[in-house]
Amino acid sequence: MSSRARLRGLAVGLACLVLGACASPRPTLEVPRSLARVEAGPEASRLLELVGHLEPLVLEALGTAWPRPFVVRVAPVDGGRAETRLVDRRVSIDPGALDEGLPMTVAHELVHVHASGRWDGLPRGVEEGLAYWIAGLATGEHVGPYSGPEPDAGALLEALTATDEQYRALEPARRGAVHQAAAWLAAGLVPHDRLVLP
Ligand SMILES: [Zn+2]
Repeated sequence: MSSRARLRGLAVGLACLVLGACASPRPTLEVPRSLARVEAGPEASRLLELVGHLEPLVLEALGTAWPRPFVVRVAPVDGGRAETRLVDRRVSIDPGALDEGLPMTVAHELVHVHASGRWDGLPRGVEEGLAYWIAGLATGEHVGPYSGPEPDAGALLEALTATDEQYRALEPARRGAVHQAAAWLAAGLVPHDRLVLP
């Protein structure tokens, strides 16, 4: 190897170290009877079990079954418990979300992964309400019909019409009201007794 080639090798090595860009991707484990995979790591077996159990319930609630390969991993998420990126078909679970709320979080993200076909045109706010409602049904957190307050017309309209950007920009209290309106709407779209849990 010439000294120039050695230098080039060193430069690439340094860039990899600084950018973390050259690390080979972690191995992934197959979720049985699914196109999902879980990144290897200390939480892999817990995530394999949760995805394996919750994905069929989410699909049943949505009434769709589109082939959807995706990877679930534990990785920091900016300002949230989890994030689904459909562009690279990846669900990231924040290390802070590995608590008793993990089943709800996983089910919620699975709704984002699978809300396709007839659900494709949903506005962001309604999809969030749908994810919340179905995650509750699939995990057994919501039993029985929707029991929250009826939404006011303004919040309902906002859930139906806010763009992604507008939804993200909502004040926390307003977002709560819009989210509740969306959950009320989702409960009308997916009856609570659609899933019969074992
Ligand atoms: Zn969400």
